[in-house]
Amino acid sequence: MVKQYDYIVIGGGSGGIASANRAGMYGAKVLLIEAGEIGGTCVNVGCVPKKVMWQASSMMEMMQRDAAGYGFDVDVKALDFKKLVQNRESYIDFLHGAYYRGLDSNKVEVLSEYATFIDEQTIKAGDETYTAPHILIATGGRPKKLGIPGEEYAIDSNGFFALDELPKRVIFVGAGYIAAELAGTIHGLGAETHWAFRRERPLRDFDEMLSDKVVEHYQQDGMHIYPNSTPKAIEKQATGELVITFENGTAITADSIVFGTGRQPNTEKLGLENTQIELTEKGYVKVDKFQNTTQSGVYAVGDVIGKIDLTPVAIAAGRRLSERLFNGKENEYLDYETIPTVVFTHPPIATIGLTEKEAINKYGEENIKVYKSTFTPMYFALGEYRQKCDMKLVCAGEEEKIVGLHGIGLGVDEMLQGFAVAIKMGATKKDFDNTVAIHPTGSEEFVTMR
Ligand code: FAD
Ligand code: NDP
Repeated sequence: MVKQYDYIVIGGGSGGIASANRAGMYGAKVLLIEAGEIGGTCVNVGCVPKKVMWQASSMMEMMQRDAAGYGFDVDVKALDFKKLVQNRESYIDFLHGAYYRGLDSNKVEVLSEYATFIDEQTIKAGDETYTAPHILIATGGRPKKLGIPGEEYAIDSNGFFALDELPKRVIFVGAGYIAAELAGTIHGLGAETHWAFRRERPLRDFDEMLSDKVVEHYQQDGMHIYPNSTPKAIEKQATGELVITFENGTAITADSIVFGTGRQPNTEKLGLENTQIELTEKGYVKVDKFQNTTQSGVYAVGDVIGKIDLTPVAIAAGRRLSERLFNGKENEYLDYETIPTVVFTHPPIATIGLTEKEAINKYGEENIKVYKSTFTPMYFALGEYRQKCDMKLVCAGEEEKIVGLHGIGLGVDEMLQGFAVAIKMGATKKDFDNTVAIHPTGSEEFVTMR
């Protein structure tokens, strides 16, 4: 017998859970189908374990690098990596419970199965079939393989979070968020770290100030950086060591190689051929601004649409969709413009809006004014280690509307959210100037630039 629901959500990650809960709040009969662990990428192998490791690494820096300047005689005897990983995973288990309780309180039924489409309104999961007039695809993505010889010896971000020992020498390959973040984290925890990317700069879509500075910081801190290095092959030595060679002839030996070379959508085994759903060339689900796929009654949010792969984006799109479908807000949709984002490098990067280059292309160089600030946060004033913070405001037109805000330095991760509100509201440089600074902070630089 086919079981009937108002809404079936495939994928219990950031987008799926958010949309299911919101629909449940409005009284819809919702079924959420998740094949793996509840919480999806973010909770299990993404934002959450990453941030825990970043925090551990920041603590290490504070104790080993910065505390002496303040007169502390700190001796970090050891890092119990296994304990760090165990505690991290216990926290993730706690989050699983919280997610189940939340879904339960909204009367969302959760099914632990792999879901496939039989037709546009019918889903098969396990031995049962389910039907609903509204179905959401929120199946996310997974790390992409490169197809080079010996790739099986390398790990990806999932493998990184499965490590229960701190590798002594690690090579990160890739130029995006994941390679940038995990390289900084493992380096801060004390491993010899190498970072190779195939072009001149990493984080190519970011303002050049940010990509240049992150490399400078990492080099200053002793990380080995290899630009213009495209991976060619990996070999395993008799000693168990791994050697990666690059097209330019460089070879590096390490205990562990981590690839952060992009992700791909989970769309292949969904039975989409039984529907009218169209995919893009790269296999993402095609959607319009309301998250409608090309099949009426079927929607998609999150990483599976390949727009902006961030948890709050998946959540916001999922909730707005449920507002539209189950709360009568016909025009509700997510505006994908001006979305703030942080890269948890060491120090972190915070960015929103257009890069300087993008602003020049859009408005013309004569209509752009850029303000910059470089300073040493007071936190570093007492020690020998001096880490700079760099900030930039990109303004457009006579009224100097702020179209881009970028920073790399201590604390910028926590500064961005408030500025993002102002920029989303259309703030101008004058609005920033009219805002009295908070002293002594790093964020005051954003409202005092000349
Ligand atoms: P997912 O969270 O991937 O959930 C999809 C779910 O669908 C999975 O649980 C999967 O098991 C399930 N599924 C797939 N196919 C089926 C099927 N056929 N049937 C049933 N279930 C199925 N974003 C941030 O905003 N901040 C960060 O700091 C951050 N850090 C990250 C660090 C790493 C290492 C990674 C990899 C990602 C990070 N992200 C971060 C991105 C963020 O994790 C994703 O954007 C977010 O998880 C996407 O949510 P989603 O709902 O689209 O998909
Ligand atoms: P990204 O898409 O950010 O970066 C992958 C990079 O790998 C590309 O920029 C590309 O750089 C490089 N690359 C691609 N193919 C190859 C290849 N064949 N050889 C060498 N290099 C290659 O992917 P990530 O996997 O880092 O992250 C996926 C997404 O997850 C991010 O885009 C982000 O949206 C999200 N995320 C968010 C985080 C956060 O919010 N803090 C943290 C982690 C992930 P190039 O073309 O310049 O060579």
